[in-house]
Formats: sequence, C-alpha cells, structure tokens
Amino acid sequence: LANRLDHFSDSVIRRMTRIANQYQAINLSQGFPDFDPPKSLIDALKQAADDGPHQYEITWGSAEFRRLLAKKQQKLMNIDINPDENVLVTCGSTEAMMCAVMTVCNPKDKVIIFSPFYENYGADAILSDATPIYVPLIPPTFEFDKQQLRQAFEQGAKALILCNPSNPCGKVFTKAELDYISQLAIEFDAFIITDEVYEHMVYAPHQHLYLANFPNMKERTICCSSLSKTYSITGWRLGYIIADKKIIDGCKMIHDFLTVGAAAPLQKAACAGLALGEDYYQQLIQTYTDKRHLFLSGLDDIGLTYYEPQGAYYVLVDISEINPFNTDFEFCEWLIREVGVAAVPGSAFFKHPEYRYIRFHFAKQEPTLIAALERLSKLK
Ligand code: GLN
Repeated sequence: LANRLDHFSDSVIRRMTRIANQYQAINLSQGFPDFDPPKSLIDALKQAADDGPHQYEITWGSAEFRRLLAKKQQKLMNIDINPDENVLVTCGSTEAMMCAVMTVCNPKDKVIIFSPFYENYGADAILSDATPIYVPLIPPTFEFDKQQLRQAFEQGAKALILCNPSNPCGKVFTKAELDYISQLAIEFDAFIITDEVYEHMVYAPHQHLYLANFPNMKERTICCSSLSKTYSITGWRLGYIIADKKIIDGCKMIHDFLTVGAAAPLQKAACAGLALGEDYYQQLIQTYTDKRHLFLSGLDDIGLTYYEPQGAYYVLVDISEINPFNTDFEFCEWLIREVGVAAVPGSAFFKHPEYRYIRFHFAKQEPTLIAALERLSKLK
C-alpha cells in the first residue's frame, strides 16, 4: 500500500466515539450535539424528501444555498461576497480544508499549523504531500511566541492553518494576534486557511474577528467553515469555502473531482437555516454560554484543573495529577470503561508527545452533562 498511510493514523477523535458506543459511555469525545437542529430545518428536510431535489446539484452548490450563505456571511465578515465567484459548497469543512490545502500547496510545500490543533490538519497536509511545521500555542493562555512564528514563515511556508475559535483549546485569537499573523502572511506572501466552524460560539467578552477583512488579507485568506455546529447538523456534512475568485476557481476544480458535490436534498433543507434571523444566533450563544457555565462549574466542584475556553465547545482538562497510567489514551480507555464517560486523549491534538490533557466537549443537553459530571466526580 502507499507510503502516505505510514504518516498518519485513523482519527483518534472518531475512534473514541466507537469505543464510547461499545461501552455505552456518555460521549463527550467527538464534538457533536445530542439535540436536534431547529424545527424549520427538519420540516424543510421532510419537504425535500417529498419534493426533491434528489439528483445532483450544481457542483459548486445550489444557487439558493450560495445566495443565502453569501448574504449571511457578507454581513458578518464585512466583505463583498459574490455567490457565483467567491463561494464553494463542500461536504463539511473537512472537505473544504482538504480542497484549500490541495489548491495552494505543491508537493514539499510547508504548512504552518498551531499546536494543539484539530487532528485533520496534519492529514490534510500529508495527503497533499505538503510538510507541516508546528508552532506551539503555549498554555495557560495558548499564546504563540512571535519569534517562533516568524521563523516558521522564514522557512518558506506556503500557508498557515488558523482554527479560530480554536479546537481543542478554545482560544479566540485577539486583534493584535491576527494583525501579527496577517503582517507575516503579507511579508512572506503566504495564504491563511481558516477553520471558523465555531464562529458563532464565542463567549463574552471575547469576539470573533474574521481574518478575511483585515487589511490586504482578502486575496490571501481562504475561509473554511461549516453548518454542522451552527445548526446542530453535523451528520448533514455541509461546509463551504469563501475566498477570492482565483482561489475559489482552484478549489472548485479539486472539489469537482473529490466529491462532485454536497448532498442535494440536504443543501435544499439547510437553506432554512441560512435564512434564520439574528435572534437564532443570539439564542445559540446563550444556550452554549449556559452549557459552558454548567460544565465548567461542575469541573470546579470536582476540583479538576482545566483551561477556560473563550470560544468553541471544548475544554482541555489537565490530568497530570490524577493519571495512574503511562499515557492519556490508557486513561481515556479506563475513563470509558470504569467511569462511563468518553473524552479525547489530548495527545491527538499535540505535535510532541504530550500526555497531560484530555478534551471534553459540552455540546450536550443539560441532563447529559449533569450525568457526566456526576460520574466524573469519582475522579477526586
Ligand atoms: N470537530 C469535532 C471534534 O473535534 C468532530 C468533527 C469530526 O469528527 N468530523 O470532535
């Protein structure tokens, strides 16, 4: 078999879900909600089952989906978005990120990835025959060292992958940090590929800023995102790229041959989400603010050490004082079997062997979170 298979493993995040299911543990590993999307989306899905479309959509995404998405994102991102020129609908942000990396990288090109990182990015780079350069985000604040980032660009990086808000550490990049990143991108003529799937999950007083509207960044920012988290439809696999026409034209070519297109009836139904008004997003952040409060207070009561997330719906817990095993993976297996709660071993997100952390997500209904906390109280 091909050598590239030697350079990455299956996803540990998704492996944890399989193990959690096997033991019927409460699954706080792979991040997805245990509640339904808004009713208007479910109704629209039923309608799509009756009325179609059931055949291929236009490869770039349905015209209505792109129109509604461009309208919504234009307001948020404060840039002009032409639905025909600047938008590509993909099978989740997973495909969006893969398309973006393949569109800008030649074999052996270097791609900067902040560590900890969402595990797909390493595989995205490797599958594109590019070479990742990891730059640490340093706990407890998860700031990067400016000099270290500059040195990574000096190695001739073609692109940097920016997950903001960050999975797994919950960091929301500040204006000063984004200014610095964009200055380096311009100085070294590099692309920034953003993963902004948690753009609507940023906790006050933190604020989500889109790199695409920083000065001179529109032509080098490839904004990847998804409907999965925003509308609680992770299984619908709907994502997108917003970028300059030249970049989107390239991404369209890759997408055309990778997947042909996202599922037509689901694109149709998801338009009901894209058409929702401002109050939906306010309600969403309120819901997640409450879940975050519930879960973090529970961790406080148990006495576990964690890093407070500024955005997204994950929390890294430090297990160094309570882990009797050699690795975080063994700890997580034990946690599933003996405690009945699934987490992701932190080493899945760090470049260098790092067994201090496990990651929980709190995108679950209150009773699920309370039951998980009750079980976790055995840890202390
Ligand atoms: N983003 C989610 C997580 O980190 C899972 C996404 C996936 O498995 N495709 O858990």
